[in-house]
Amino acid sequence: MSGSHSGRAGRLSAGLATAGPDDSALDGLLVTNLVNVEYLTGFTGTNGACLVTNDRRVFLTDFRYAERAAAIEGWEVEIVSGQWLDGLASRLQGRVGFEDDQVTVRTASQLREAAGTAELIEAGGQVERLRRVKDDEEISRIAAAAAMTDELYGLLMERGLAGQTEAEVDAWLTGWMRDQGAQPSFPPIVASGPNGASPHAEPGPREIGPGELVTIDMGVRLDGYCSDCTRTFATDSEADLDSLSREIYDVTLRANEAGLAAIRAGEIGSEVDEVARSVIREAGYGENFGHGLGHGVGLEIHEAPRLGPSSKDVLMSGEVVTDEPGIYIPGATGVRIEDMVLVGEEGVARNFCSIPKQLTFV
Ligand code: ZN
Ligand code: ZN
Repeated sequence: MSGSHSGRAGRLSAGLATAGPDDSALDGLLVTNLVNVEYLTGFTGTNGACLVTNDRRVFLTDFRYAERAAAIEGWEVEIVSGQWLDGLASRLQGRVGFEDDQVTVRTASQLREAAGTAELIEAGGQVERLRRVKDDEEISRIAAAAAMTDELYGLLMERGLAGQTEAEVDAWLTGWMRDQGAQPSFPPIVASGPNGASPHAEPGPREIGPGELVTIDMGVRLDGYCSDCTRTFATDSEADLDSLSREIYDVTLRANEAGLAAIRAGEIGSEVDEVARSVIREAGYGENFGHGLGHGVGLEIHEAPRLGPSSKDVLMSGEVVTDEPGIYIPGATGVRIEDMVLVGEEGVARNFCSIPKQLTFV
């Protein structure tokens, strides 16, 4: 709804000349993924779509959102009686791209019916590509979400972990976020002792004991934008921690730092992943790091680009990505350390996670 939103629509229509298969030209693009619609217009709601052509921008929604739609600058608004589909028939002309990777089979067939003589072209991923590089407004929102997450980590370290169940810690974290007017960007992970061996552990009734590792992976969504940060803590003191936990912590931290040093514009996702992964492999834990190194963060908690063994994504300045190696020892323990950073021409331009990474005993 601000100037930056109309800039985004402008970039999208500028790209229509090569948005089709094999870089062919499109006459228009229909955007129906609601996250993409929000990115282009600022609109949040359950029924909305955008049609972008070289010279027109039409936003379609229903009467429930008439007031919200009126506040959107730079778009013709069409209020339809039902679904956005109902307002389209007369508007589709020429080669019109649609988000084939997002619409249901049913919607696709309804769309073909509505299209008449217009040619529908599979053209998913256009807005997702634009979303990779963040503008200043997006970066400041992501930074605010990350700062709130850091504040929560600070409170958590003061509060301690041992003696509480994972579920209690989770409820406290989530409650604090909501009290601040934010929401979790994903359900927090609180994984203690052997539960730390599962990268996606759900917080449960296990009571956090002395002398063990606890992995906390959390973030908030604030003003639409997500943050994502993981730290692994230890309970009690250095003397209480077993040597395996200590060792995998140190290896994971070295891998995290190697990943940070490799992130820069022009690098390929698979190569950055390999730099961090090789640290873990050479320490003998290659089999224990079973996920990709990182992912983009923005309106969604997981978005392009990807840092992983098969990623061909070439990093660009202005992207926000995570660097989150982990080592998971089944039945025993696990570590993950995750930072969220801004990609720059020369390297990491900014690390949004400021919580210390030396093993902290809480
Ligand atoms: Zn995370
Ligand atoms: Zn992550």
